[in-house]
Amino acid sequence: MSYDVVVIGAGPAGSAAAYECARQGLSTLCIEEHGTIGYPVQCAGLLSNTAFAECRVSERSVLNKVSGARVISGMGSEILIDAKTTKAVVVDRGALDREMAESAANAGAEFRLRTAAYDLLGTTLMTRGTNGREKIPFRLLIAADGPRSTIARLCKMPRAKTYLAGIQVDLLHECDPRFVEIYPDASPDFFGWMIPAGDGRVRIGLCGQYQVPERFAAFQKKFGTNATHLVTGTLPLGLMPKTYGPRTLFVGDAAGFAKPTSGGGVYTGIRSARHAAAVAASCCETDTFTEAALGKYEQRWQADIGRELDFGFRIFQMRQKISAPDMDVLIRALNDPDIIRTIVEYGDMDHPGVLIKKLLCKPAILRCAAPLLRSGLLSLFP
Ligand SMILES: Cc1cc2nc3c(=O)[nH]c(=O)nc-3n(C[C@H](O)[C@H](O)[C@H](O)COP(=O)(O)OP(=O)(O)OC[C@H]3O[C@@H](n4cnc5c(N)ncnc54)[C@H](O)[C@@H]3O)c2cc1C
Repeated sequence: MSYDVVVIGAGPAGSAAAYECARQGLSTLCIEEHGTIGYPVQCAGLLSNTAFAECRVSERSVLNKVSGARVISGMGSEILIDAKTTKAVVVDRGALDREMAESAANAGAEFRLRTAAYDLLGTTLMTRGTNGREKIPFRLLIAADGPRSTIARLCKMPRAKTYLAGIQVDLLHECDPRFVEIYPDASPDFFGWMIPAGDGRVRIGLCGQYQVPERFAAFQKKFGTNATHLVTGTLPLGLMPKTYGPRTLFVGDAAGFAKPTSGGGVYTGIRSARHAAAVAASCCETDTFTEAALGKYEQRWQADIGRELDFGFRIFQMRQKISAPDMDVLIRALNDPDIIRTIVEYGDMDHPGVLIKKLLCKPAILRCAAPLLRSGLLSLFP
């Protein structure tokens, strides 16, 4: 049987794409190389309220709700941001991914598990899995096959600009369940985190470009070593230069949609998937798969999240130049009642640009402008 759309990968981006395609009446197949959707988990599971709403699931996967964050410098300064209302949820990503896949299946998408795509011959996808080797004809492919995207490699697409490695463990550890803790110096080119995951458990992790296992071993010592769950993963940052190829649209981590400021990729991955599904529906309806027709996908996501992702990548580049002493100065400067009020009012994990622009107008921040100037951050603004 030939499908209108074949989606590769049943992560949040793949299931969101499959759901939207099926809902619009397209014959849709989603293939997933693993036997259980959502495993292995490669995520800290922290989602802003907006990101969680974008998943369109029940609260079944929610383990904890957080209202703020404590940012702790390696040199002793710290700041507490408490919005006194839920700002984000901590989820069981395995459960979340499965519920999203169930919604897509209920909308009419067909799922084939333990089935991996390994080659492309024109409009035929080659897979191997429980049914042996299969040739699956399609009209359009949506590649949602994550950071190592086989489809991007087969299409010879230039990839994301930067890849971060991440390590995280779950531990039993006492903490205030209302607050995430951020440790910028635990990983000087990104950051480390402690996320309360309910029932006295926390997720301790970091992402970075260099010496990640060594940094993680040093960081974990603060919290204990009896881990009950270990996660390792890759985070592509900086979008691939072109997010579509012949009869193919790339969504989620396969295209590098994760936010370069936080590493969060669920929200942007799902947004990209919805745009891909809308373009898939229009291409299938008009039987037009030209460069111009597929290019509408890029126009759509650019208009929605393109500016924020571009701005975020510039912030990520600036962050590489902020030393530990400069970070300490910045955290001290942020610890001011007016600034904390501004962070509570404008802080948005999915759109950090708005807050950063507001903060750079504050006298207390401008007083510590030396580290900002050294990092080049102020040059972002006219
Ligand atoms: C340590 C770490 C912590 C993170 N924490 C957060 C966080 O707190 N919040 C957040 O929003 N984001 C977080 N992220 C990022 C987030 O996990 C990803 O951005 C998100 O999972 C991307 O979704 P996706 O659907 O594009 O890809 P994935 O979730 O990677 O799904 C891709 C799917 O494709 C399947 N697949 C791959 N190749 C094939 C093939 N050839 N054939 C068939 N199937 C295939 C895979 O098995 C997988 O199921 C974190 C990432 C890391 C590494």
